Amino acid sequence: MAVRTAAIPQELIYRAAYEANRLAATTVPRDGLVAFQRAAQRESKPLARFVLRKIVDNANLAVAENRPMCADTGLPRYYVKVGNEAAIEGGFVALERTLRQAVADLTHDIQLRANRVHPLTRHNPGNNVGIFAPNVDYSFEPDGDWIDIIVVHKGGLFGTDYRMLFPADGVTGIKRFLLDNLAEFARRGLSCPPVIIGVGLGGTKDQCVRLSKEAACLRSIGDRHPDPLVADLEVELNDLANRTGFGVMGVGGDTTSYDVHIEIAYAHTGGLPTAVSQLCHAYRRAVGRVHPDGRVEYRDDPQWFTPYYRRVGIE
Ligand code: SF4
Repeated sequence: MAVRTAAIPQELIYRAAYEANRLAATTVPRDGLVAFQRAAQRESKPLARFVLRKIVDNANLAVAENRPMCADTGLPRYYVKVGNEAAIEGGFVALERTLRQAVADLTHDIQLRANRVHPLTRHNPGNNVGIFAPNVDYSFEPDGDWIDIIVVHKGGLFGTDYRMLFPADGVTGIKRFLLDNLAEFARRGLSCPPVIIGVGLGGTKDQCVRLSKEAACLRSIGDRHPDPLVADLEVELNDLANRTGFGVMGVGGDTTSYDVHIEIAYAHTGGLPTAVSQLCHAYRRAVGRVHPDGRVEYRDDPQWFTPYYRRVGIE
């Protein structure tokens, strides 16, 4: 007879969600700190170098003083990866109630900016909780009996765009779209570059946009796609973005993009859907893995794009 895994209590999920939100708000993932420092060191333009150094100082100060690194604390959102063997006390409805409560409490306790408002009345509930807020997206993983609660406080929301290309547009069309996107948003400083750029290729329109956001938010800087064709394009697009010279906050400089991550999905034979999402340099993310035995492990690498998540065939 199969042994049933003990249910993960909501109290433990609450603790992990609250702490992951706190860590996302007040720490900077290590890959981000390294990328900030490298960009400042190699910058050739004095004004851009000055601003990049201020980004490094600001990130270090935020960590030292346990405070958010930007006054705009973005939009708190969750990505939840659930092991196939995990059992959750109260099920997914209870889980979602707990995740919403953690955002409301953290918004109050650490003074995240209450950014979420009704889109028409502009009513602000004051706790970042409302209709479809915070976002919760799910994926699943074979064998695991744990839940990963991934928190992103997403900034740079002006830098997301979508275009339906034709297959014949190919890589040239993708590059053109990326350059249009950067010219529109990066030069005007709307997404606060340097940014991490996520590109979604293929799928349906909604899949494509979702993948571009996940690519921007849920992969570490320097990580390459396992498909060499995609990985090479990531390097090429990052080089292209930086050759625009838009630079940090649009003041001109060598680093417009810290990295480009591409995710692909099989597309309709007649189209090449393409989406670009920018994650601003306020790089805020943390993960809590909750085990049924009561342990919670925190880390900054989401490990969202597993081989199972990117599976090609039926198995
Ligand atoms: S885009 Fe990022 S860095 Fe700029 S104001 Fe928003 S959260 Fe802050």
